[in-house]
Amino acid sequence: MRGRNLLRSTLRDSDTAARLGSDEFGILLAAVHNVEDALQAADRIAEAFSPPFEIEGHTVDLEMSIGIAAFPQHGGDTDTLLRHADMALSEARRTGSIYSVFASEEHASALAAFKLAGQLRSALDRDEFILHYQPKVDLATGRIVGVEALVRWQHPEMGLVMPGNFLPLVERTSIAMPLSLRVVDKALAQSRAWEDKGFDLTMAVNLSPRILHQPDLPERIKRLLVQHQVAPSRLFIEVTESAIMIDEDRALAALDRLVAQGVTISIDDFGTGYSSLTNLRRLPTRELKIDRSFVMAMRKSNEDAVIVRSLVELGTSLGLRVVAEGVEDAEVLATLKTWGCHKAQGYHIARPMPAPDLETWIATSPWGVGARTRTVPALA
Ligand code: C2E
Ligand code: MG
Ligand code: MG
Repeated sequence: MRGRNLLRSTLRDSDTAARLGSDEFGILLAAVHNVEDALQAADRIAEAFSPPFEIEGHTVDLEMSIGIAAFPQHGGDTDTLLRHADMALSEARRTGSIYSVFASEEHASALAAFKLAGQLRSALDRDEFILHYQPKVDLATGRIVGVEALVRWQHPEMGLVMPGNFLPLVERTSIAMPLSLRVVDKALAQSRAWEDKGFDLTMAVNLSPRILHQPDLPERIKRLLVQHQVAPSRLFIEVTESAIMIDEDRALAALDRLVAQGVTISIDDFGTGYSSLTNLRRLPTRELKIDRSFVMAMRKSNEDAVIVRSLVELGTSLGLRVVAEGVEDAEVLATLKTWGCHKAQGYHIARPMPAPDLETWIATSPWGVGARTRTVPALA
């Protein structure tokens, strides 16, 4: 009981303390006027609880974290305030601090995300999603053999929004399928245009985890290939293992049909999430992309270098083409080559860029373009 009395003794009469959970208490500071006053109260509480407790002859050291949310700036009703105080509490625990104030920036970014989500569909109608292309180099020949198409949102007020800031919103809405098809459509149109200009490049697109299980996906991609007269062998589809795991049977069926059409499946971000050797054996994949986090850390961490090397060996032994993404310097590029890694992609070679910039870059870059062998013709 000493704890409750102690807590009460740190508060004023106008304040309320109540137990919210087994080891959680809520305190309503009715008479404070700003966050600084609340911080002082938090200090007082922490101070009061810092000496060890004596319980049945045992000394118990209490650890406490406090999350603070203030009315009205952090919420206008009880539920919001409690939720935000709880978020601040998690932050305090995460950072090992005694107290943390709900971050208004977080609040602002949650609101901004909410606003963005509401604009997704009109963005599609207004054609605000654009593609940047990042080259992939073949380490054996030193030539650029393909590109990866990466989506960006050209927002009228916010400028260029990166995929990490809007794809999670897309995943929760019905625009996942139309957006993915728009990306494939644009990428294939670009692929056609480059082929007409004499560039021999494969085109990789990333597919949303949600649409991999749509039964008509292979057929819709086939239609786009025919429409743009692009050979299926030019198209690489990058999927992550976690995307496949959502509904394995249906995903495998879709991937098998895409492979039967002549499209190449590439496993993206390999080494993170649900990576499993069984998947590598079972999936109709021909290419494995080592996640950039390992490659980027290779120079500084021996463990990461060992992981990358092992993944290159593993992929190669299974007869897969191995791509390292996130190559940021010449030394890593050279090391990957000696390990027998097939392709590399990363800022050291080039950042993702709009199609016209890529053409200019190609014209002046030391890398040649195109595989030396030709690809098979387009579908009729
Ligand atoms: P990802 O498919 O693994 O794409 C590679 C990401 O790594 C890209 O980020 C690229 O800009 C970045 N990157 C490449 N080289 C380097 C490097 O050397 N250093 C560093 N630090 N980063 C590098 P981006 O464009 O922000 O895309 C992030 C993720 O968003 C992609 O990861 C992919 O999962 C997803 N994404 C992008 N475009 C699409 C799309 O059209 N559809 C779907 N469903 N997902 C997409
Ligand atoms: Mg990718
Ligand atoms: Mg990746």
